[in-house]
Amino acid sequence: MNLLSQLLSRPNPQSSPKRRRVKGIELKNDAEIATMRQAARIVATVLHEISQRVEPGMTTADLDAYAEARIREMGATPSFKGYHGFPASICACLNNEVVHGIPRQRKVIRAGDVLKVDTGAYFDGFHGDSCITIPIGKISTEAQRLINTAEAALYAGIEQVKAGNTLMDIAGAIEDVAKAADFSIVENYVGHGVGRNLHEPPSVFNFRTRQLPNIRLESGMTLAIEPILNAKGKHTRTLSDRWTVVTLDRSLSAQFEHTVLVTDTGYEILTDRDRLAS
Ligand code: MG
Ligand code: MG
Repeated sequence: MNLLSQLLSRPNPQSSPKRRRVKGIELKNDAEIATMRQAARIVATVLHEISQRVEPGMTTADLDAYAEARIREMGATPSFKGYHGFPASICACLNNEVVHGIPRQRKVIRAGDVLKVDTGAYFDGFHGDSCITIPIGKISTEAQRLINTAEAALYAGIEQVKAGNTLMDIAGAIEDVAKAADFSIVENYVGHGVGRNLHEPPSVFNFRTRQLPNIRLESGMTLAIEPILNAKGKHTRTLSDRWTVVTLDRSLSAQFEHTVLVTDTGYEILTDRDRLAS
């Protein structure tokens, strides 16, 4: 390579900032994190608003239309719509549906249902991703216990997020909460890195395993942690629509997900709904 081509190929620090990667995982810089906060806040806002508005008689298609409109109003685009051909802006799952439920006009939400809403927003080059489970009206004690445990499992995992800890620390904490409550963890769907891509390395598993690479966490990693708990067995099957996944034994399923930033001292929950007021 001669000097001229060296000069020409030298990256312009303004237009192509050097991306830091560890084992294929991109570490986000301060500016990128600031953008991710905005994407994540849009997701948190949509989920908060849906949790406040949903009521029996609405359909999952109604919620999808609302979410898409709000995501676009806030200047973002729905991360899920068109992703591998997914037709909607939210995944909406009722009761025994586990993940990737396609919103439908014929899916009417009823009192007693356990509803999961998962959505993502793409803002200025970065994605946020989060999921909540909402009890509709009065639900059974056991269904509420499942929801509470799934949320507690997510937060137990998040408590392990800190530079120097590993993915296994997160997974172990989630597994312990689920096991203590006698619920099973779905193993064939896991969390992921999130950033420029909705799904990027690493796989953030929710149970102790040697099948997936254990990674030491570093400041600047952004992870979507998203344990799914089933009331009974862990096994699932995919319906003929090729998206909707249900529990094999038809038992209830619950899930919570946050996009979380790893910091030197711990974590920041980017999709935290509690900070929307600020
Ligand atoms: Mg999600
Ligand atoms: Mg996710």
